[in-house]
Amino acid sequence: PPTEMPEYLRTLNATQREAALSDTSKPLLILAGPGSGKTSTMVARLVSFLMEGMEARNILAMTFTAAAATEMRDRVGAAVGKAVSKELSISTFHAFCLQLCRLHAEKLGRTAEFLVYGHSQQRRAVIEATRLASMETDTAQAGSSVTTPLGISTTDTKPQVQANVQNLVACKDKAKKWLQFVTQAKAAGRTAEEYEKMGNRIGGAVLRHYEATLLACNALDYHDFINFSVRLLKEHPEVLAECQKTWTCVLVDEFQDTSTMQYNFLHLLASHNRITVVGDDDQSIFSFNGADSSGFDSFRKDFPQLKEVRLHQNYRSTRCIVEAATSLIKHNTKRCQEKQVHTDNSAGDRIVVMECRTEAAQCANVVDCILMNAVANTPQKPTYGNTAVLYRRQVTGRLFQSAFRARKIPFNVHGVAFYRKKVIKNVTAMLWTVLPGNTDIYWRRVFKALYAGDPSEGKRVVEYVDKVVKTNACTFQQAAQTVFTAKVSGTFSRRQLALGRRVLTSINMVHRLAHKEKSLSGLITAVVNLLPQRPVFNTRAVVDENGGKLLNEDDDPRTVLEYFLDDVNDFLSNIFKPFSYDETDKPLSENGHHLGVGDGCLPVLKAFLDHLVTREQDNFRNRQKENKNSVMLTTMHQSKGLEWETVFIVKANETETPLLNEAMGYVDEGASSIEEERRLFYVAMTRAQKSLYICYVVVDSRRQVLQPSRFIKEIPHHLLNFQYGTSHGDPFPKQVNINTSKEILVSSSSNYQQGLKTDCDLQLLCEDGENDSPDGGNELFPGRTDSPTAHEDAAVGH
Ligand code: ATP
Ligand code: MG
Repeated sequence: PPTEMPEYLRTLNATQREAALSDTSKPLLILAGPGSGKTSTMVARLVSFLMEGMEARNILAMTFTAAAATEMRDRVGAAVGKAVSKELSISTFHAFCLQLCRLHAEKLGRTAEFLVYGHSQQRRAVIEATRLASMETDTAQAGSSVTTPLGISTTDTKPQVQANVQNLVACKDKAKKWLQFVTQAKAAGRTAEEYEKMGNRIGGAVLRHYEATLLACNALDYHDFINFSVRLLKEHPEVLAECQKTWTCVLVDEFQDTSTMQYNFLHLLASHNRITVVGDDDQSIFSFNGADSSGFDSFRKDFPQLKEVRLHQNYRSTRCIVEAATSLIKHNTKRCQEKQVHTDNSAGDRIVVMECRTEAAQCANVVDCILMNAVANTPQKPTYGNTAVLYRRQVTGRLFQSAFRARKIPFNVHGVAFYRKKVIKNVTAMLWTVLPGNTDIYWRRVFKALYAGDPSEGKRVVEYVDKVVKTNACTFQQAAQTVFTAKVSGTFSRRQLALGRRVLTSINMVHRLAHKEKSLSGLITAVVNLLPQRPVFNTRAVVDENGGKLLNEDDDPRTVLEYFLDDVNDFLSNIFKPFSYDETDKPLSENGHHLGVGDGCLPVLKAFLDHLVTREQDNFRNRQKENKNSVMLTTMHQSKGLEWETVFIVKANETETPLLNEAMGYVDEGASSIEEERRLFYVAMTRAQKSLYICYVVVDSRRQVLQPSRFIKEIPHHLLNFQYGTSHGDPFPKQVNINTSKEILVSSSSNYQQGLKTDCDLQLLCEDGENDSPDGGNELFPGRTDSPTAHEDAAVGH
């Protein structure tokens, strides 16, 4: 490219550049494989809009995770400066739609202070709804119904519905199943009436009661953000007009994971045609959220003037990784279109497939590899930041955290529920009580947290106040005031009454402060200082070699709160901007926030709490304080869009990846769910730039023999390099429980090795660049065809 070309375009190839600069007024669709520069092209397009003079505040970019939003803001900021990039609306669907709902709450039957129901509150609402629904359906058919422990009638439904209900009933945790039902219904945008019309009276009733509960509590759940936003744009033309006037241009990354309702939202918002979407149908991994790649078809149909661009070159990974991933995904039958992918990158090393005896051995092997790699090029200063460990389930990651801590490897955990930590929950509950509206759920929590007596006493006090709430139909605050201002009470001692009054005084103080104090961090610091900060566990925060603290799950609450205050400051300086259509003339505070007189920091506080709501759902914490030189531990889902030089995919076993749903089995074996799991594995593999390790475990903690993932078998042999626990001299034999697993390991491992060795001897090096896998070589694991029970018997017999 010519040298006078601006930097942000110079790094693109001709096709990417053409796409980035293509006609703004036409819809653009980029459909291409991983690592082909879709996100890079989208960012360049965004920058080009700014260069052409478009106002930053008129651009809306949708990303799938908060992490991706931060990343994109940084990338744009690098090109145009932070002052401009801060003005952009870069957000997840949920965060954006939540703000829209706040702005128009009264049109949705709520007040602007509506509560947001997270998982646990939603669960409670679902249980209540099933109770009410079963009462209703039971009376309707008194005598003839078969009632289940949850009271759900199974008769009087159409056969298919009945099967569904029975299936639900058969499941161990019924509340969980009903919660799943409700979330799926809402993700698909289905109403109670629709279910009732279809003959699913019970489903319809549960959904109806659930919605009624939320309405009565002035609450929305996560799905409502999207569904209500769609309703707003559909039913209120003035809102749509205002939105379109403000966001004249919309860009969407990871379009394949856009749910039907999210798509409906985009379709309405972007009817002005200035929309760019980029995605890859092979990376669609959120179908449980109602996303499916039919979005591409809808997009083509709804935006007929679109320009469609394909990118074919992978810039991210070695040829070996690209070939392996491409071969894997070919096993999926339901694909939009086969993609031509090539790369000019070097062939690179073969993918290492590591057999590990147990999960502990797996940890040890991975840790060993990481330590070796970290000092390979820079013995003086080990590098860890270019490495990630990816797993299918959170629990698999836990063992790695302790292994990393033990070996002093710095790491960051994506997906550890930072905002669900008890101390943080207490602080945010206190902040919620400051806002108007029904905040009883938060009052309860705060009361328990502040009550200085012993915890069971606190619980009893709250239960008592709750009874008063019920009998007097008042708020928790009013009830507490009545109970504790009484001089004498038959129920509580003088000491208990005094403690209760102290709690009320503290909360009142915070409320006064919120209206007076202009700075949000000032308010939050005050709250933090009020709450007890005894360490929950007696663990010291691990300090890495640079003196940075590493966050771990059972961290000292003081450290957690310190991080939390960092988040507050990050929010204020990098993220917060008032969500409105027009520039207003209201006075600004020192942070540049619009304020009303006497509001204190309430407007900022509201925005901050909403920010936390979406962060909590996303499991994402800002990375300001994270150590850059750290290994990333994350789930496969959270890894999308990201890249690392070295990637370890761990516990690549059947039932783990592909994940076996305990209640349902592999739903529709060989079809949709397996294909989705394969796409997820494909996403994980394609995160690696240079080295990819795939590890599987031979026995689990219950001494059950595990099968290696079918996905390993689906990769051509000549691209794989097999290593067994002993290949690194089995550095941590002591960590393996010899007593429980020795016998199986010796026999099975040698079994496998015999079969595998034949294949390995015949393997051609990847550097040859040809797919000369020997005939019949597909049967990679001849030893593995034994029934698992045979191994189990061996284990038991020992
Ligand atoms: P994914 O599907 O995983 O989200 P993607 O298609 O969005 O991938 P990017 O993340 O944009 O791909 O790019 C992958 C890598 O390739 C990045 O490191 C990027 O800097 C690099 N890259 C993209 N385009 C080019 C190019 N034309 N020349 C050199 N490197 C490029
Ligand atoms: Mg991308």
